[in-house]
Amino acid sequence: MSWLASEARLSEDGATASARHAPGQREGQTISSGAGAGRRFYLDLHSHSTDASDDAGGTVEGYLKWIVARRKRGYVVDGFVLTEHRQFDPAVSYDALAEQYEVVVLRGAELETEVGHVLVYGISEEFSRRFDLSSVRLPSEEIFRVARETGGFAVGAHAGRASIGLAEHVAGGYNVEGVVEAVETLNGGSSDAENALALELAQEHGLGCVGGSDAHYVSAIGRCLTAFAHPIASIEDLVAELASGDYYPITIEETREAGSA
Ligand SMILES: [Zn+2]
Ligand SMILES: [Zn+2]
Repeated sequence: MSWLASEARLSEDGATASARHAPGQREGQTISSGAGAGRRFYLDLHSHSTDASDDAGGTVEGYLKWIVARRKRGYVVDGFVLTEHRQFDPAVSYDALAEQYEVVVLRGAELETEVGHVLVYGISEEFSRRFDLSSVRLPSEEIFRVARETGGFAVGAHAGRASIGLAEHVAGGYNVEGVVEAVETLNGGSSDAENALALELAQEHGLGCVGGSDAHYVSAIGRCLTAFAHPIASIEDLVAELASGDYYPITIEETREAGSA
């Protein structure tokens, strides 16, 4: 994990976890001002914050400040998706902060199934009604299928990690055909070997590959990203891009090379 080598920590100004808005407001309407037509759109699809994940130390504003600092050094990070553990509160919005920092901030969830963790984007009221999101043993086949049926998209998280990733379960007989469309093959919390195992799984079964930092702390945000074909300003945009199949995982180091070309 050489590219994950530790960097100087940006001081975390934990001052604000207060950018919560009234229900009904749409989220993520800010597009990065740097998003030109000719390049890919880089989104970190997996992150946790102090607002809703008790194992996280990073605040949303801390993540935003870190991304702004990364951009000044030539890296290209358009935004991130908060995927807090086992929950989704539709009333939470980070629109004001997102606009202030010109970083896209979207929200999904990381749920737990019998075959490991699953990232879900586009969680509808119906989806929330059908499942107890706090369960640690949700039925994976239904999670993947109902996510799609209700306008969302589900991705197998850190697929190469033992027990909480899909690869081990597939090796044990779990059938992904017709169930799983994409897995996270570049996860910032996984080892190189675990990410390689995830990639092997994806290649063997023709699955889409996404990247996410799995940040729990500020300096980890944006380290692993997914490169999309079009700008993404809302969770609906993200679901459409994931459904298109036109995306790939990328490290933050690679965005600098691509961005400075
Ligand atoms: Zn996880
Ligand atoms: Zn996670």
